[in-house]
Amino acid sequence: MSLRNLLSLRHTLAFRLTLWYAGIFTISSCMAFLFFYLLITSVIRERTDQDLLEQARKFSTLLSTRGMETIKRVAIMEAQAAGEKKIFFRLLSLVGEVFFSSNMSYWRDIGIGRQAIKKLLEGSGKVFDTIVIPERKHKVRVLYAVIGAGVILQLGQSMESYTRFIEAFQKIFIITMAFLVALAALVGWLMARRALAGLGEVTRTARNISGGALEERVPVNGTGDEIDQLATTFNYMLDRIQKLVIGIKEMTDNIAHDLKSPVTRIRGVAEVTLTTDTSLNDYKNMAASTIEECDRLMDMIDTMLLISKTEAGVVKLKHKEMNIASIVRDACTLFHPLAEDNGVNMIWNVPDKCTLYGDIRMIQRMISNFLDNAIKYTQPGGTVDISVHEKDEKSVVVSVKDTGIGISSSDLPHIFERFYRGDPSRAQTGSGLGLSLARAIAQAHGGDIAVASSPNKGSNFTGTLPKSSHNPS
Ligand code: ADP
Repeated sequence: MSLRNLLSLRHTLAFRLTLWYAGIFTISSCMAFLFFYLLITSVIRERTDQDLLEQARKFSTLLSTRGMETIKRVAIMEAQAAGEKKIFFRLLSLVGEVFFSSNMSYWRDIGIGRQAIKKLLEGSGKVFDTIVIPERKHKVRVLYAVIGAGVILQLGQSMESYTRFIEAFQKIFIITMAFLVALAALVGWLMARRALAGLGEVTRTARNISGGALEERVPVNGTGDEIDQLATTFNYMLDRIQKLVIGIKEMTDNIAHDLKSPVTRIRGVAEVTLTTDTSLNDYKNMAASTIEECDRLMDMIDTMLLISKTEAGVVKLKHKEMNIASIVRDACTLFHPLAEDNGVNMIWNVPDKCTLYGDIRMIQRMISNFLDNAIKYTQPGGTVDISVHEKDEKSVVVSVKDTGIGISSSDLPHIFERFYRGDPSRAQTGSGLGLSLARAIAQAHGGDIAVASSPNKGSNFTGTLPKSSHNPS
């Protein structure tokens, strides 16, 4: 890895996480060490003090049972046995005058603590002191205790084991901490890299997508962790973007193909009128047919835009509680005269009330399209049967069944595509956009449309809509 790469690592999240991990680990290890250190040093000091007290007690007993000479002898023996550099004894009068001591050549620097004697005489049975002798490695712990009438014992002990422990502890601390910090950094780095590995995938995919590979998806490993959730959300977002891009592409294709013909027609009519001997009446006819074609064109463009927006979820549906039964009934009443004109029977079986949440205008458009198609594609004498019923507790079904021309199995998979028109239906007016819009509306409400149809027998369109308001996420 080059120096540049190494330097650029400083800015990575993995690096920062590693620093945090190693930092927190080091601080907690130091705290644990400190606690251990304080505990052990206090135990060692406690033990030293206990030893000193034990000695003082022994001397006190000896003084009362065997007398002064015995304790002097015992003091010299004990000092020699323990090592004269380790322990010393002094016997003092109550004013602090030394009247006996073990060999003090090594302890010359240690005087009599006037303060300690004062405290002792004030009533404390024992006084401890810690003395630091310059240029000597070990501290000295000193006990002053009254061991008999007018006799004070000054007993000192080198805190060698204490110093040794601290030295050993420092060594262990430095070595262990160096090892632990290195280990923490390594483990932190590996953990951060592992945790963030999924992020790398997301970044790589995003980079490929910006290079044009819109069909790429981030692998989801199914652990359900944050990275997995990010990947799922990211993939969902990509699905939406891909859908939008495809929608835009389809729309431009459609504009190129299907909107061209009306424009060509308008131009044709205008051209013929211009190039032939034309009366004022012909000009009027031309203007009338241009207006008609333009209206159709505008209508188609509006419908196309509405489909695209509804499919993309850009249209904000105005959800309201509505009585779908009464909406269907109104639509039937509206279309009935048209059916009568075409010689088609219309029967509707609609309950009084059936409520759901939805956008009234949109749902009206969906139902109008079903009715318009059913009447349009049913021969005179045929029947259109409309019903509304609750499918279950959660959804409502609007069914429009006709005995019309039906749809061939080859047309059936395509009838919801924009501008698709079955061959037999070309005799009728239409744009091929009605069902695309109807399905977009149903899906925007969280429902869908199903169709069953056989040629020359009839078709049955069923729109299923949820009762509760649907918020596309
Ligand atoms: P349009 O009716 O304007 O052609 P639609 O999108 O509403 O467009 O319908 C698409 C196609 O589906 C129609 O061209 C027709 O072939 C078929 N279709 C729709 N409804 C029916 C129906 N009730 N009976 C027979 N064919 C139908």
